[in-house]
Amino acid sequence: MRSKDVRPEAPLLPGRTIGILGGGQLGRMIALAGRAMGYRFAVLDPAEEAPARPVADVFVRGDFSDRAALLRLGAASDVVVYEFEHLDAEAVAALAESVPVPQGTALLRLAQHRALEKAALSAGGFPVAPYAAIARPEDWPAALRTVGLPALLKTTTGGYDGKGQWRLRTAAEAAAAEAIVRAAFRETGAGRSGEARSEGDAAGARFILERELAFRAELSVIVARRADGAMATFPPAENVHVRGILHRSIVPARVPKTVEERAVELARAIATHLDAVGLLAVEFFWLKDGALVVNELAPRPHNTGHYTLDAASTSQFEQFVRAVSGLPLGAVRLWSPVVMVNVLGEHLPALLKALPTLDPRFKVHLYGKAEARPGRKMGHVNILADSVEEALRLAEATGVWPELQAERKNP
Ligand code: AMP
Repeated sequence: MRSKDVRPEAPLLPGRTIGILGGGQLGRMIALAGRAMGYRFAVLDPAEEAPARPVADVFVRGDFSDRAALLRLGAASDVVVYEFEHLDAEAVAALAESVPVPQGTALLRLAQHRALEKAALSAGGFPVAPYAAIARPEDWPAALRTVGLPALLKTTTGGYDGKGQWRLRTAAEAAAAEAIVRAAFRETGAGRSGEARSEGDAAGARFILERELAFRAELSVIVARRADGAMATFPPAENVHVRGILHRSIVPARVPKTVEERAVELARAIATHLDAVGLLAVEFFWLKDGALVVNELAPRPHNTGHYTLDAASTSQFEQFVRAVSGLPLGAVRLWSPVVMVNVLGEHLPALLKALPTLDPRFKVHLYGKAEARPGRKMGHVNILADSVEEALRLAEATGVWPELQAERKNP
């Protein structure tokens, strides 16, 4: 139970309760790691069958915007963390008045809004793709002129796993995107010229138009950081997305050592600049000319860090608990080359069928979700082998992921 003597700067010792805003798979894996360390967990989620519910000591069912539900979570917790960023930052700030929220709300506000995030990264001198913020329909022509084609139109808030994103390669696609933008402003009536904020006002932007970059690879680095600034970094992952959803992470990334080092250096500098506490995942594009560009940030455990559950000496979930509790960060050593492959709804039947005869180098993690809808993240598999190439071959040989065969035919 919450006790007044627990301040954010005092270490939170096992036996205390960590409240989690969000009971998805990330909340579940945070709680599983933290329970092994002796912590108790309280979870708030609107879904009756939230994946974290069976592993929580206390479950509060409610919407994240429901202040009374948030207060109930706070009352049951010594500290509150969040496992996803699409939260009402005002409500989280109000909660932080009664219970420590070590991750804070400043980074939450940035990470939930693409235009604010990009503006903050640019202001800090970190490289981002050329983009334009669209705060009113009239911003469209100039945005298209400055960014050019090919481009991606992205909603500033609410988008994830490729949702709220449109790819624009032709003039016809650009015209269709303009119609989407104009309709969105018409629907809510907001952002008309009369009430529009000044151009370039990131906070008022509803969309960003971003140049589509031709990258050689996508990378991510997860940094753990404590309130006193101590940091530990996980080895960069090379990530492959299919239809906007992470398909797999490959570690070590198949990039030159200097690129890995630069990614780690940038991620640590960003975590320090934004005063991240807990975990910060930084996604990068590694461009054909060798440059690294920051794609986006996530101030929490990240899908591209799931490989650490089996292949690293400290998992991202344990590290997250350590960081927010003020415990020493764990040593990070990669035990083995690893490929993490996501199990989406469409992959689950084949995986379950293959499970009884699966190679022992496969470590299967399932999130306990009842309904296997296409595109829904049901679990992941970590394949530990002597090389990432071997792990990829093993994944393909199962036949569980048709995308791997398709890529071999159409690289
Ligand atoms: P996001 O939600 O912004 O991370 O986008 C999801 C995925 O879409 C990324 O991981 C990339 O594979 C792709 N993508 C997003 N933005 C760009 C871009 N500017 N250029 C090329 N690909 C992109």
